[in-house]
Amino acid sequence: MTCWTRQDAQKLHDQPLMDLLFQAQGTHRRHFDPNRVQMSKLLSIKTGGCAEDCAYCSQSARNGSGLPASKLIEVERVLSEARKARAAGATRFCMGAAWREPKPRDMDALVAMIEGVKALGMESCMTLGMLDDDQVIRLRDAGLDYYNHNIDTSERYYPEVITTRSFAERIDTLNRVREADIKLCSGGILGMGEEAQDRIDMLVTLANLPEPPESVPINMLMPQAGTPLADIEPLDPIAFIRVIAVARIMMPRSHVRLSAGRSGMSDEMQAMCFFAGANSIFVGDRLLTAGNPGEDKDMALFERLGIQPMTAECDTAGKAAE
Ligand code: SF4
Repeated sequence: MTCWTRQDAQKLHDQPLMDLLFQAQGTHRRHFDPNRVQMSKLLSIKTGGCAEDCAYCSQSARNGSGLPASKLIEVERVLSEARKARAAGATRFCMGAAWREPKPRDMDALVAMIEGVKALGMESCMTLGMLDDDQVIRLRDAGLDYYNHNIDTSERYYPEVITTRSFAERIDTLNRVREADIKLCSGGILGMGEEAQDRIDMLVTLANLPEPPESVPINMLMPQAGTPLADIEPLDPIAFIRVIAVARIMMPRSHVRLSAGRSGMSDEMQAMCFFAGANSIFVGDRLLTAGNPGEDKDMALFERLGIQPMTAECDTAGKAAE
């Protein structure tokens, strides 16, 4: 495994854009079919009222977004949404709960959700906050394929965005999940007022984990009313595309997901992100609480670009390359 230094990552990031894109596309082609994009569906299984204070998030009870807190939704409702997602071509079903960590009373329902999604022949993913050893084992034994736990930004900038937990706690949970043989989904959010160096450091942290995450979601901040980042200046789209390309080169076997923020991107920008090596998206017109392009719009864009949805079989073939 390559160990990335900040200097090498910076050099990669700072090169002329055309050279960076050319290199990223070459790396992409060595590991994946460049005309296939994996589709995941994200469902909020428990919305709002979160005890954490993530400055970007409308679900934090500490931010003034006014989003009401809901209870954990019923297992059958989750599975009904998973069936719809499968019919629309999604191969992975991601379930997100606005928690600092799951409570013991929630574990049976979470296990039933994973088992139900697996029985539909889909990959399962959850994002539930911090996990202890017993919780990790229960989720793994239920068949959980992926655990999402974003590091969000650099270690340096982290306290500017979140104060109720530390960057080190984030890494601890990632290590615990990896040790249980659950695949990792971990990335970050760009456009939160960070410097380019923070974006590079975030990628260095992810690429230098004992094994890089299999999924790397790169989000463009969608400023949410009532949150501390509601009025932040938008990030230059070219700076965003650079990060996608650098992520592709530094983590060549990972799925780089063009995640939240797509509804604010032009078709041309999304096409450039796919060229830079993004090969996964969330489908459906809602993410956890934010909007997302609908399936019709995505399929029309795929058609224009000659992109096909990635199936489980071609995903495996792509990963076997090189
Ligand atoms: S990002 Fe997650 S942990 Fe942070 S406030 Fe929102 S729901 Fe809670």
